[in-house]
Order: sequence, then structure tokens, then C-alpha cells
Amino acid sequence: MTDKELFDSLAYERKNAYLEMSAAEKAEMDSFCDDYRVFLDNGKTERECIKLSVKAAQEAGFVDLAGIDELKPGDKVYKVNRGKSIFMAVIGKEDIRKGINIAGAHIDSPRLDLKQNPLYESTDMTLLKTHYYGGIKKYQWTAVPLAIHGVIYNTSGEKLEIVLGEKEDDPVFVITDLLPHLAKDQMTKKMTEGIEGENLNVLIGGMPIEAEGVKEKVKFSILKLLNARYGITEKSFQSAELEIVPAQKAKNVGLDESFIGAYGQDDRVCAYTTLRAVLEEEMPQRTAAAILVDKEEIGSMGNTGAKSAFMTMTIAELIEKACGGCSVTDLNRTIENSACMSSDVSAAVDPNYLSVSEANNSAYAGCGVTIVKYTGARGKSDSSDANAEFVYEIGKLMDEDGVIWQTGELGKVDQGGGGTIAQYVANLNMDVIDCGVPVLSMHSPFEVTAKSDVYMAYRAYRAFYKR
Ligand code: MN
Ligand code: MN
Repeated sequence: MTDKELFDSLAYERKNAYLEMSAAEKAEMDSFCDDYRVFLDNGKTERECIKLSVKAAQEAGFVDLAGIDELKPGDKVYKVNRGKSIFMAVIGKEDIRKGINIAGAHIDSPRLDLKQNPLYESTDMTLLKTHYYGGIKKYQWTAVPLAIHGVIYNTSGEKLEIVLGEKEDDPVFVITDLLPHLAKDQMTKKMTEGIEGENLNVLIGGMPIEAEGVKEKVKFSILKLLNARYGITEKSFQSAELEIVPAQKAKNVGLDESFIGAYGQDDRVCAYTTLRAVLEEEMPQRTAAAILVDKEEIGSMGNTGAKSAFMTMTIAELIEKACGGCSVTDLNRTIENSACMSSDVSAAVDPNYLSVSEANNSAYAGCGVTIVKYTGARGKSDSSDANAEFVYEIGKLMDEDGVIWQTGELGKVDQGGGGTIAQYVANLNMDVIDCGVPVLSMHSPFEVTAKSDVYMAYRAYRAFYKR
């Protein structure tokens, strides 16, 4: 053995997934990513992602858990929570109380929500006031085409689903920004202050109508239009959930089309790969499950977020229907014996901003799915920090299944940090590890992922269900 060979056998070297894949794998990757782009274009809100997931689940033979009294191995079920989160499971051959393999991802993404009284007129224009959701860089949301998605009740009490700005001939909406010529003061501000939250107002109209005694003639014309088209009044906005998202469709990026650029890849890239993995399960040894949750971007709060009791309640229901009953001990044992892949994106090293990453311990676009032992900030605070035993087990599973993976950490120590749903799952007394796709321009209107990593995430979740 030469010294070079010995060194190679002793040292660890990150691999580029593209170099490791066979032609067949590359072909599978391409078709997988084509499907993924369609999912991104049709799932721009948490509600839309749940609808797409239910449709795909039903096509794969999954049925609503509510309609099932008894579960047996091979049964495929799902349960939707308030249209914003979903739990899917394929019952395994083994007693469910021996534990469930759960992959979890979130389907909410940073965006702008309409305020409850959003409509106002200024300078002969009508605008919508917003309150941003999640961690955005506000300047990225101005001067780009925007769409409106969500639900609103009309005056007859019907819930309407709105998607405006996505079809080729739909109008789009926009937040205007100051011209450079008059931006002397703005340009000297800190980036956090250059665009203020209260200035994220969306332009929706500018054609006044003649109206005797009405001062706000543009607002009047928009109200008339909204009423004629949707049967809503200004008060209807108060209960609505309308989200402003980029109108841009998902695209291949690069001359070699090695990347995907799209809004909402955090965390729909992990949601879609998780979904595809669980839908392909047939008669697993251990029960295979997937949960897609809402509200991660604002702290996993609320009854549709990861901190909600929805998951444990659904697990209890599965045990009850699979075992003819579920004691507190049954539930506790099942959770203790279960394991979770907390599937969320990681930060890919950006060649334009190398200084924020530490070269040895960061994720690289193209180098496969990222396994993240711990997240957190300021000395691992708020991290669940997976146990060595579990990290070893997962790494071995990936290697045995030919999954190209890397480890990753969110930037340099004390550069910032973050966390995801892993800690809440870990608190239930379950083994959990973060695992996901490295993303460039995270939380921007056009996030970028490498196709090889998207495909390897899917392969990782498939491998996880074999444990
Ligand atoms: Mn995320
Ligand atoms: Mn995020």
C-alpha cells in the first residue's frame, strides 16, 4: 500500500453525489426532480401542500384513519389536522408498540400574510398591508412579481380558495421600491432597516371610478371588483388567511441544469422527498410514518405546529386501532421505541460568503443529503443534539443503502444559528436527528438546491424506513 492509498483509507473525504451516481440513478434523479418542481408550483402554501399530499396518498392507496376501526400490517392511513398538517402511516409487520420510524418535515415557508384590515388607499392607488411570516430579508420581497394564495369567507358563509397571479394571463401584485435616484437616505441605512415591515404594502389597484360622495374612489373600485368576483366585503378580510408569495415558477438553474431554483424549498424539499418515500412503502417491518407540519418558521407553535399534541394523539389512535386498545404505557413505550428523521434544510456553503461557514463542518450543495447532529446557537443552545448511538446507526443505514451524505452545521460557531422541529420530537423521549437538503439563498423568494441532494434526501428517507 502506498502512503497515498493508506492516507485515503484513513482520512475522511466528502464526496460529490454527482460523481458517485450511476447513469440509472441520474435518470431517476432527473425524473424525480421534474415531479418535485410540479409539486413546488402547486404547493405554495401549507394548505396547498396538504391537499397535494392527500391526493398523492389516496392515489397510493392510503385511506383516512377516521374511517378505519382496525389496523393490520400493510394498511396505509392518513390523518389531516385542520387542513395544515398531516400524519401518514404504513402499518408494519411488527407490533406497532415496538416503535415507529417517523420522518417529519414542515410545509410552511416564509412569506407575507395580509393583515386583518389590509385594504387602504393612498396617492390614487390601493394597497394591501402585510405582516411578514418567518425570517425574511425584507428587501428581497420588493420589485418582484407576487401572487395571492389562501382562504376567505364570502358574505354567504362559503369558504373560497384563492389563487391569483399564477396562471399565464393572471395579473400579479408587487411591493414597489424606491428608485436609486431618490434613495440617498435609504441606501445609507443598515440592511435590516432599509425596507421597513410597515412598508411591505402590496399594490392591487389604481383605477378610480366616478362615485358621487365617495372620497376613496380607487378603494371603491377594488371593493366593487372584489364583491362582484368573490362576494366579499372589506370585513371578509378579518377572518381570511391570505398569503403573499412569489409568483415565479420553479426552474432548472445552471447551463447543466444541476440546480433547482424556487420559492418555498425550505422545507418543501424535505416534505416532498419524505412524502414520496412514505408513499412507496409496502408492508415494512416497523410501522413507517411521515408527518408534515405547519408553523415551523414561527417557532412550531399552534395546534398545527410540531409542538401540538397532534402527533402523539394520532400515534395513540394507531395503537388503539392496531392493538385493540392503548394504555398510557402503550403510548409511552411506542414513543420511546420510535425514531425520527427531523427533515429540514441546512445552509449550503455559499461561494460568495465563505467567511460565515467553517469549511470542515458545513454542508455543500451537490454533496448529498446532510445529517446534522445538532443545531442551535451560542453553545448549542436549543439543540436536541442526537446521541452518538443514533448518529452511528443512521450513518450506517445510509452507507449500506448507497446514500451519499455529509454532515453539516449551521455556519461558524457564534455566527448565528437556528433550530427546527427535532427538539420538540426529542422532548417526547424519542431518538431524533436532523437530516435534509443544503439550500442556497435560504428564505429568499428563489431558493436554490442541487438536484443530487434532493434525490439523495429521498433515498435517505427510504433507507431510514428499513431500520
Ligand atoms: Mn426549515
Ligand atoms: Mn426556515
